[in-house]
Amino acid sequence: MSSPLDLVVFDEERLDQHGSGGLHPERPERLIAARRALEGRDFDRVAGREATHDELQRVHTQEYLGRLELIRNQRGYLDSDTYFVEQSVDLARLAAGGCLALTERSMASNAVGVALARPPGHHARPNGAMGFCLLNNAALAAAHARALGAERVFIFDWDVHHGNGTEEAFFSDPHVLYSSLHQSPFYPGTGHMGDVGRLDGTGFNINVPLLGGCGDAEYLSALERVILPIATAFAPDFLIISAGFDASARDPLGQMILSDDSFGWMAASLVTATLPSTHGRALMVLEGGYDLQGLELGLRAAIDGLTLARQGFKMPVSRSDATIDRCVRKLRPYWPELR
Ligand SMILES: [Zn+2]
Repeated sequence: MSSPLDLVVFDEERLDQHGSGGLHPERPERLIAARRALEGRDFDRVAGREATHDELQRVHTQEYLGRLELIRNQRGYLDSDTYFVEQSVDLARLAAGGCLALTERSMASNAVGVALARPPGHHARPNGAMGFCLLNNAALAAAHARALGAERVFIFDWDVHHGNGTEEAFFSDPHVLYSSLHQSPFYPGTGHMGDVGRLDGTGFNINVPLLGGCGDAEYLSALERVILPIATAFAPDFLIISAGFDASARDPLGQMILSDDSFGWMAASLVTATLPSTHGRALMVLEGGYDLQGLELGLRAAIDGLTLARQGFKMPVSRSDATIDRCVRKLRPYWPELR
């Protein structure tokens, strides 16, 4: 077994001030649950900072950043389910900045970063908020890693929802590969397997849309047959996991039935597959996950896996299905290593 990788964490209690005050699923208690997953571990912390305007505009448009400036110190909704309160814009910049600080640390010292980020990010589009998300933390971290010299960044998104914002940010970019396992049909309605990227980015956008009701066996098959061979062949300098825990069987929003341990073996297999090129440079960013126990236990396993601190996860027997077969056929023109 490899020795455990060093762990660096971004966690700011100020982020708990982002809350609707009502019964919204994206609530401050999520980070309190996430913190329990850190108990009993050795790790360093990085201090938070607000992402700068220049850093934000690597992903987001001037027009959208201008709209966010206008809602500072106000309350309301940016779309039908994306609330903001007086502090939200500053806190979103702080969460994004924490992801950037972790990216710097990881790139410099080959440590594994974990960002307890709220509001989440992967639905945030270059030109707008969406789906509880204001700023796209994972996309901003990928752009930051590129600015710091990473030639190739691999993003794997296991949130139950497709990360449409991240996909959109890098759809024509061959240097940042976005890959996602998600429930489909489901919110936000994107993430079709034929959406493989465009222009120079063609072949560098990987969607594996799975029917609701899938669990560990199908996820393991999708990793073994699609995600891991591509991750190894792509040979990234930096790995980002968009870690939502709403594909957990415990989650009230998603219909997937993943076990708590699944997040551990998924993280460990991604880190291991990319270790020859990343040398441990990795970042895990919190996305969704709305059952507090599912979030805590999934994140605990994920950190164990990400840092290679634990073996012996309860593994399923892999079970392929017609969707995964179709994905392999669709992607093989770009990735001949797929079987
Ligand atoms: Zn989600």
